[in-house]
Amino acid sequence: MLLETVLTLALVLTLSAPAVAVPPADAPGTAKPAPLPKEDVIETSAGPLALRFIGHGSLAFGFAGKTIYVDPYGKVGDYAAMPKADLVLITHEHGDHLDPAALSAVAGPDTPLVVSEAVREKLGRGTALKNGEKTEILGLPIAAVPAYNIKHHRDTGEPFHPQGRGNGYVLTFGDVRVYVAGDTEDIPEMAALAGVDVAFVPMNLPYTMTPEMAAAAGRTLKPKKALYPYHYGDTDPARLVELLAGSGIEVRVRELR
Ligand SMILES: [Zn+2]
Repeated sequence: MLLETVLTLALVLTLSAPAVAVPPADAPGTAKPAPLPKEDVIETSAGPLALRFIGHGSLAFGFAGKTIYVDPYGKVGDYAAMPKADLVLITHEHGDHLDPAALSAVAGPDTPLVVSEAVREKLGRGTALKNGEKTEILGLPIAAVPAYNIKHHRDTGEPFHPQGRGNGYVLTFGDVRVYVAGDTEDIPEMAALAGVDVAFVPMNLPYTMTPEMAAAAGRTLKPKKALYPYHYGDTDPARLVELLAGSGIEVRVRELR
């Protein structure tokens, strides 16, 4: 049994070995980097807030015994194994943000949903907020803010995310404001969000921001606690870290490809 395991492991290592010789994993200086945290906890005036990184544009917040999901997407997480939602926010109707199967795995027919109008049209339910509109659910103030492209567009000339269609959200947990930008570029409306505590900014190309745009967004937002690149696809988040070095903004990279 043990021998079999060892042989299988040896085979796997042989098959996956790169062409150049690498020193053994226990050699000094070659330790594998620690896995990225799946969750960060931030203290608020109303108790701890857990920021959970599911992957891609999918997040969850744990606060006061409730679980709030943003853009649940079945390709990046097993939602059947996650806690049931007390609230779900959906930014826009694209398939990696509005995934009805992932949604029904965490949300029942009565779970409150905060959505864009286009999402409400597709789902047939939810509280639809336009850019600039606000609501309060579970005692949490929620504001819908603009999310759109200025530069990046389809071959037809149509922006990937036309102005006024999708939402970003600002959620307030006690004295902590969390901005989830949705699929957007560094739009001028971000100036009104300067001084949020936590910001999640997307970098998957060509649909959202280059690291340079995300850095500009970071400098505008000046989040007090942390800036998280999220929904970054194949864009290297290390580039954003580099661009914001010395800015006083804490860029936290998590597994949110
Ligand atoms: Zn999108």
